[in-house]
Amino acid sequence: MTTAELAAARAEIAQACRVAAARGLVDGILGHISARIDEDRLLIRCRSDSDDGVAFTRPDDIRLIRFDGTPGATGELDGYRVPNELPIHVETLLAHPEHRAVAHLHPPAVVAADLAGITIEPIYGAFDIPGAWLARHGVPVYPKAVLIRTAELGKEMVAAMGDRPVVICRGHGITSAAATVPQAVLQAISLDQLAAMSLRIRAAGGTLTPIDESDWADLPDLGPSFTADAAWRHEIARVETG
Ligand SMILES: [Zn+2]
Repeated sequence: MTTAELAAARAEIAQACRVAAARGLVDGILGHISARIDEDRLLIRCRSDSDDGVAFTRPDDIRLIRFDGTPGATGELDGYRVPNELPIHVETLLAHPEHRAVAHLHPPAVVAADLAGITIEPIYGAFDIPGAWLARHGVPVYPKAVLIRTAELGKEMVAAMGDRPVVICRGHGITSAAATVPQAVLQAISLDQLAAMSLRIRAAGGTLTPIDESDWADLPDLGPSFTADAAWRHEIARVETG
């Protein structure tokens, strides 16, 4: 990867962090997004003494490191610290080569819905088709509320995730993995909307009922490539003009 490509990747991850914060998927300083660069290195949102939080992530906050947490190139960790939960990213990327990007976020609605005993179900259809399909295929839960700071805990979370692109970490947050950074964040936004809508329906006294089985034939799973570009342009526009 050339220096220019690396700079573009840093900028994209920083932008993704700002999008996640603008969408309320992280609050304050916790949460990080990463992207795999090669066999044993990834770019990841790191911390520093001039860190103003996830909503204000700068391209410089995205550092190149090895999977073992050491600098991926000379000077990469000068003045920066790798997040404690690096194992979330490393173990997810190692277990699933098709995943090149990982977003670990703390969306309050998802945490609240899970703690309220709500299972994410496809309660709506055309309201958000990618979200509906995400729910239809199931959203697993990793039941430990711990800080995932060891490879062992990271592997446990990945095992709970199974073959799904997202996992809810109970009393903690979520991990979303995808082929691209935008897709990892868009999935997280869809999951957050499912949880928020579930809470809203419950609060209104309603019950959570999956949509009719016959509806699925007319909810085309167009795949991320069809919708993600437009959706991501919108997310960028929101943070750049807001
Ligand atoms: Zn966390």
